[in-house]
Amino acid sequence: MQVINLFDPWKSKFCTCPTKYSFSPYTGCSHGCLYCYASSYIPNFFTCKPKKDLLKRLASDLKKIDKRIYVSIANSSDPYPPLEHKLRLTRDCLKLLVANNCKFLLITKSNLVERDKDVLSKAKVCVSFSLTTLDEDAAKKLEPNAPLPQKRLAAMENLIKHNIQVAMRIDPIIPGINDSEIGDLLKSVAEIGVKHIVSSTYKARFDSWNRMYKVFPEVMEKLKDLYFRQGEKISNSYYLPTSIRFKLMKKVKESCDKFGLTFACCREGFIELNTPKSCDGSHLITINL
Ligand code: SF4
Repeated sequence: MQVINLFDPWKSKFCTCPTKYSFSPYTGCSHGCLYCYASSYIPNFFTCKPKKDLLKRLASDLKKIDKRIYVSIANSSDPYPPLEHKLRLTRDCLKLLVANNCKFLLITKSNLVERDKDVLSKAKVCVSFSLTTLDEDAAKKLEPNAPLPQKRLAAMENLIKHNIQVAMRIDPIIPGINDSEIGDLLKSVAEIGVKHIVSSTYKARFDSWNRMYKVFPEVMEKLKDLYFRQGEKISNSYYLPTSIRFKLMKKVKESCDKFGLTFACCREGFIELNTPKSCDGSHLITINL
């Protein structure tokens, strides 16, 4: 296979994802999120490029994959970068996936996904939106080139109205930046019909830490000791101390319970907090509204 691969969590001891395929129509991502970890291992990451001969390679891979396993799109980029307005590559890929009876999870920060609701409404799919804050100013700083939170909320609502399953990621939670608005965020998405929440704390790598520090120097100065002295290094990331991560994830879970949402944390090691469904929202793929 060339463009669809088995998802590799890099031996993460905390990953609870089911077996899935991974597929990215684009290499790199121009949303430019300060906290992005993919920029630490993909060169020129914030310059987004379409993959060469993508549709031909996808068609070839679709003949070989096990159709019982779903495809996660995308894990190290966004399938709806601004380039997609013009290129419509992701849209063509989705049509091919649907024509080949593939199940898929579509992970995005962009309301452009609404454009493809005609294709998605015929698909076995769950769309997982990432939304870290409702505060426009904070969003402009954290995710400078991604669509604003209100646009994402409107897109979620629109897809749900078209009977398309929607999950949401509050990922990452960064103490001092977005941890105080967890309840408001979950209330807003529960009201529009989102069913499942995935959440995770910020795991620092040096390049994302430096970007965060430049924009939020006071907050990051306060977090420095927690990440680099009191916390632990797992693989190539620096984690907050376990007790703080647990408290944050418990807070998200309790809000989810309050608003009738299922919950799972991502790569935190607190399986006991997870509602017993898939962590990433893939359990919603085959459910019809
Ligand atoms: S949308 Fe995802 S892949 Fe793109 S820059 Fe933001 S965190 Fe990275």
